[in-house]
Amino acid sequence: MTGGTPSPRVGVFGGTFDPVHNGHLHVARELREALGLDRIFWVPAGRPPHKTGQIVSSDRDRLQMLRLALRESLGDEISSVDIDRSGPSYTADMLELLHDTMAPATLVFLMGEDSLRDFPTWRDPDRIIRAAELAVAARPGIDIDIESIAAQFPVVRGRVRVIPTTELAVSSSEIRERVRDAKSLYGLVPDSVANYIREHHLYLDRADNGTLIPAR
Ligand code: ATP
Repeated sequence: MTGGTPSPRVGVFGGTFDPVHNGHLHVARELREALGLDRIFWVPAGRPPHKTGQIVSSDRDRLQMLRLALRESLGDEISSVDIDRSGPSYTADMLELLHDTMAPATLVFLMGEDSLRDFPTWRDPDRIIRAAELAVAARPGIDIDIESIAAQFPVVRGRVRVIPTTELAVSSSEIRERVRDAKSLYGLVPDSVANYIREHHLYLDRADNGTLIPAR
């Protein structure tokens, strides 16, 4: 870019978001502040390849819960780029698409440390690293072994930042389990999301209200 205006830095937060929960909201807020991001694109996965054979809520339900969770949050936007395209949801494809449409913005792909550990098994890590920087949220006291990942994929060197974040220990699996066990979701998801789950009878009988992710 010429001139003195720096290109915007845009976070990309990908996930299944089935459902979005307060842990996602909390970590996104902390990463945004720490990294000085102008905005964050939340990108729900269309057909998560690592969830083959599992039942995932419909695109419509997952998108709607994200809309409810983010409706008062300036600077958080939802992108359906991954839901709208066919084929399995590879992060590399999604990031290249966003990279091309958002140029000259610098993309920062946000992830939890569990995702970084799986990174070497992801398809096309080199393409991911070319399209975006990586920022990994790390709980205080947890050592992340970037070196062993960099040994396998030298391209990650200098492209991954580890950001200490405070932990809000909640997961989508826990939410789904609590719904099945008729336990409260108070403090774990925004009230609007809890109401949506109740009104649409989500997670009670997965066979009835989800989509089976087919094997490739
Ligand atoms: P599931 O329990 O179904 O595996 P999840 O809670 O991990 O779901 P995803 O939608 O798979 O949610 O996660 C999207 C991203 O959010 C991933 O990068 C994951 O590491 C991160 N993430 C999920 N929960 C938390 C949390 N409590 N704190 C920080 N990051 C999180």
